Amino acid sequence: MGLKGTVEVSEGVSQVPGTDVYVTTFDKLLNWARTGSLWPMTFGLACCAIEMMATGASHYDLDRFGIIFRASPRQADVLIVAGTVTKKMAPIVRRVYDQMPEPRYVIAMGSCACSGGVFRTYSTAQGCDEFLPVDVYVPGCPPRPEALLEGIMKLQQKIRSENGRWGMFR
Ligand code: SF4
Repeated sequence: MGLKGTVEVSEGVSQVPGTDVYVTTFDKLLNWARTGSLWPMTFGLACCAIEMMATGASHYDLDRFGIIFRASPRQADVLIVAGTVTKKMAPIVRRVYDQMPEPRYVIAMGSCACSGGVFRTYSTAQGCDEFLPVDVYVPGCPPRPEALLEGIMKLQQKIRSENGRWGMFR
């Protein structure tokens, strides 16, 4: 439902008839911009990272979604935990997450990051949600690039429904 005198042209976006004026909410505008410019942290832990690299390479080409890997947590807003997380490594992964600015998101990629995978041992974290707030889980050992792409699209869906998460505007 748009404002009075406007016509709804897409969900939550209305147009003033006969003009190029569109009306929407700040949340919608911010979420739209955010979903088209997710920058993951360049960070891999084990074999799943190879599939993550393949997703970013020319055949699957993450750049076309505006997704560009960054080499600094200060410039990243997505942490893709790709691989087995040992208990020794968990605090370092957490530190990388802590260095990322808000709003930030976490994708657990692969069975190891989701639940420890085949490594039911004293030295392996049984899922990175033991120490990180995970937004999307991508199962598989390893998940193919298509699965990671689907996980990213699920994250984009989630971001589209966020309200009041203005990060630096707060
Ligand atoms: S889920 Fe499989 S491919 Fe991924 S890190 Fe674990 S063992 Fe390797």
